[in-house]
Parts: sequence; C-alpha cells; structure tokens
Amino acid sequence: MNTYEIRRDFPILDQQVFGHPLIYLDNAATMQMPSPVLQAIVRHYHADNANVHRGIHALSERSTRALEDARERVCSFINARTSDEIVFTSGTTASLNMLADMLVGNLRPGSAVVSTLMEHHANFVPWQQACERTGHPFLVVPLDERGDLDLYAYQDLLENHDVSLVAFTHVSNVLGTVNPITDIVELAHEHRALAVIDAAQSIRHEAIDVQAIDCDFLAFSGHKMGAPTGIGVLYGKYDLLENLQPVRFGGEMVDDVCVDRTTFAPPPLRFEAGTPNYVGAIGLAAAIDYLEYLRLDDVREREAQLVHYAEERLQRIPGLHILGNPKMRMGCVSFTVDGVHPFDLATMADKLGVALRSGNQCAQPLLHEANGVQNVTRLSPAFYNTVGEIDMAVTCIERIVKLLKR
Ligand code: PMP
Repeated sequence: MNTYEIRRDFPILDQQVFGHPLIYLDNAATMQMPSPVLQAIVRHYHADNANVHRGIHALSERSTRALEDARERVCSFINARTSDEIVFTSGTTASLNMLADMLVGNLRPGSAVVSTLMEHHANFVPWQQACERTGHPFLVVPLDERGDLDLYAYQDLLENHDVSLVAFTHVSNVLGTVNPITDIVELAHEHRALAVIDAAQSIRHEAIDVQAIDCDFLAFSGHKMGAPTGIGVLYGKYDLLENLQPVRFGGEMVDDVCVDRTTFAPPPLRFEAGTPNYVGAIGLAAAIDYLEYLRLDDVREREAQLVHYAEERLQRIPGLHILGNPKMRMGCVSFTVDGVHPFDLATMADKLGVALRSGNQCAQPLLHEANGVQNVTRLSPAFYNTVGEIDMAVTCIERIVKLLKR
C-alpha cells in the first residue's frame, strides 16, 4: 500500500493547523472522504439528480437506478442474501434506535435484552430505554480485567435468564477490543435469542460477511468508511424484517392508504419513510468501491500496524495509562495521563496540528467501571496515516505531558 499515493485522494490532509502540518488521528470519529467519493456525488448532482421512486421522467429513473445499485453494492459488500435486506438509514444510531423501537415490544413476554459494558451509547441507551418502556429486563455483560468481554458471564446470563435479544459491538470505540462475534451470535442462537451487531467501528477494517456471522441484524454508518455523513445501513434477515412493523411513517413506505387503515410496502422500503438520502447511498457505494480498490485486507493490516506502533510508543511515556489490553485491538487506543486532563492534552495537541479526541467517547458505562475514569484521550489512525505522523503525534503528547506536569 503506497500511503503517499493514497494521500493524494485526501486533499484535506494536506494543510497546516496553527502553523503545523495537520496530523489527523481522529478516524474512529469520522474518516476523511476520498476524492472519488466526492466526485461520484458531484457527478450525480451535475448529471442525474431527481427525487427517487416518484417520477417517470428520465432523471428520476436514473436517480432511482443509482440508489438501487447502491443497495446492491452494500448487499454484496456484506454478503447479504438479497438487497431487500439492506435498509438505508441516516447512520448507526438511527438504525439501532429504529430497531429497538420496532423489536423490543414484540419480544417474548418477560424475556431479557442483553447488551455489554463496552457499548457506544447508540447500542446501549435505545435498548435500555425500550426495556424501561416495555418492562423487559435489561442485562449487561461485564468485561474482564484486560478489556475483553467476559464470555463466561455472558454464558451465565444466557443460561440463567430467558434472553430474547443480545446487542453488542463488533469493535469497541474506546478500547479497540475486537469481539468474537461469530461465537457470541452462535451462543445467542443456542438460547433462542436474536443477535444484533453494531459494526460502526469495524466496517472499514473487516470484511463483514453477515451470512457467515449469521447475525440477525447489523448496523453501520457510511462516514466511518469514507462516505458522507447522514447515510447508514440497517441489515436484517429478510424473514425478520418482513415481520416487523414500521415506526416511521410517510411517503414511499406504504402500499395502500385509506381513511381507516394503511398497509405497508415490503422491506426495505417499509422502513424508509420519506425521501431517502439517495445521494448519500451513492456516496456509500463509491466508498465501498474505493476500499475494495485498496483491498480491505491491506487496509486492515496497515491500520493494525499503526495502532500497535502507537500503543508501543505511548506506553513509554511515564504516567500514561492505556485503557485495556485486549487479546485483539483494532482501530484506536485510548489513554489517561496522571495529573493531566484529557481536554487540556487534546487542546494543546490541536495547537501543534495533532487532531485527537478527548471526552467520554459516548461510552460512559465502560468508563464508570474503569475506576471512575470520566474522560480519556483517543488516538485512532487510518490507512492514510504514516508511521512518521504517529512518531510526531507521540512526541507532541510527550512534550505536552512534561509541560502540564511542571
Ligand atoms: N457505535 C460505535 C461503536 C461508534 O463508534 C459510533 C460512532 N462513534 C456509533 C455507534 C454511532 O455512530 P453514528 O454517530 O454514525 O450514528
């Protein structure tokens, strides 16, 4: 993988911030968009734009074709059985909220929903709130001391409760822990529970095969993989989608509307009320093309090298503590430094051109468990970052820590 050539596709990286070359290490929050994706969007607006599904004119037909081609593209990317299993949403958060709203009320009476302590709030709060509304118990799988899921505790929960749904992340957005999703899904199914996967952090790093994983639902966002914001996916097995009632209503999702009743279109349109973000979907298809052109295996290998290099260099800084030591880490490394507030660290790093993220990373249940840590600093490289950038960023962090501790 030739990083210098790849960086030409990301002109945003070639800029100065406060007089220093930008070092963008906040890719777990959003990945930058490569030029071919932007070009696909511009081309659509310049040549083919019209609202989809509703017109018989040429532009509307082209626009509709492009949206449905994008659905096919996503279908083959995650190896769904049919593109009817691909629901376009505005992102992971929207996918999981909609799913929780549609699903939890229909679970076996009295059965429990299980999530984990390492979830992003997007895969925690919607289930917690839906359980609160419907009276289903909400149970949480703890982590072991390394920051891996405690799979014994998970098994115990499944054996000792009537669990009808488990929702867990593929990769933690704080610890970078990679969960053994196929095993987790298999165990869920052995206990008659549905399995929902949050793939927001893994979608860029892993070739996801929903049939091999056998998950029932999976959600991800386009902007974590080079597509624009405002587009995401909810994958669901068709027979499950077919039995869900929509919770958002409006144009295009209906079959027949009468004064006293409405019938709905089949999936996926049933879940896409209103004008869909078809240009976002076209951008998502272009982002998939781009990642496949780079080869996903190479992207994963490159990002793994960068994360491990960062981890190795960071842990040499006195007083710096990396959160967790999972068996497999992907995408990011989070840390605290004795006597240094993460906001001060990230603010000063910014003044040196280094973009890091500090805060609770929308994962408060995890941080509450981590000895009362409230905020961390997170460094998350992408394939377009260089080892030299990691070196410079770590040197900056070292300097800032010395300064702040003085
Ligand atoms: N889950 C995880 C693991 C994430 O990292 C994120 C984004 N930080 C989300 C869900 C939410 O994604 P979005 O904000 O795109 O809906």
